Amino acid sequence: MRSFSMDAHMHFDLYKDRDKVVRFIEETQSYTIAVTNLPVLFEKYMKNYCGYKYFKLALGFHPELAYEYQQQLPVFLKNIGRTRYIGEIGLDFTVNNFENKHCQVKIFKRIVEACRNFDDKILSVHSRKATKEVIDILENYTGKVILHWYTGNLRYIQIAISRGFYFSINHQMIRSISGKKIINFIPLDRILIESDAPFTYGLNDHYDLNFLDNVYAYLCHMHNVSIETIQRIVKNNFKNLLS
Ligand SMILES: [Zn+2]
Repeated sequence: MRSFSMDAHMHFDLYKDRDKVVRFIEETQSYTIAVTNLPVLFEKYMKNYCGYKYFKLALGFHPELAYEYQQQLPVFLKNIGRTRYIGEIGLDFTVNNFENKHCQVKIFKRIVEACRNFDDKILSVHSRKATKEVIDILENYTGKVILHWYTGNLRYIQIAISRGFYFSINHQMIRSISGKKIINFIPLDRILIESDAPFTYGLNDHYDLNFLDNVYAYLCHMHNVSIETIQRIVKNNFKNLLS
C-alpha cells in the first residue's frame, strides 16, 4: 500500500501530453518538483502550470545545455523570484571541452549566488563527473539542496550530509551495483525519491508512480523496516525540506 507519493525530480515537459501528466499528479496527490531544462521553458510553462497544490514547477538551466544557451542567463535571473524550486541546475563534466566546462561553472556559480538572496529556495542539482566542483561551489550555501541521481564518490556524500543536503534517489539506481552502494550509504533521514522521468526505466513514454513502490520496497529490505515506516520517514524528510 502506498500512503505517500512524491517525485523530487521529473521532466514533465518532455511528455507529449503535459496536461494529462499534471492532472495525474494532482489526482494522485503526489508532491512533485517538475524541473525545466532552460529558463525560457520555465517562462513558457509558468503561464499554464502554476498555482497547483502538488505540482511545483522549477526554474532550471541544465548543465548540458548551459554552454549552447548561455545567453539565457538573464532570463533565469529575471524569473528567479517566481518559484521556490530551482532545477535542473548543476555541472556535467562528461564533456571534454574546456570552454564548455568553464561556462557551466560560471552559470552555476551565478545561479547559486543569486539564490543566496532568498531564504526559501530548494535546489535540485546534477553533478555527473563533477561532484567535487559542485560540492565546492555549494560551500557555505545555507539553503536547501537536493543532489539528484548522485553518482559520485562516497566521500562527498559525507560532506553533503554534514551540510544538511538531501539526495533524491530513483529506481534506476537500484538496478546497478554502484547505485545501490550509494543508496545504502545515505542515511534514511536524507532520502527523497525521484523518477527523473522520462529518462529512467519504464517511464519513457508514460508517467506513473510505480517507480515509488520499487524504491520503497528496496529501502524496506535494506533497512529491515516496514513499508509504513519507510513511507513515514520519506514523508517527514519532504516536510523538513519544505520547512
Ligand atoms: Zn533530470
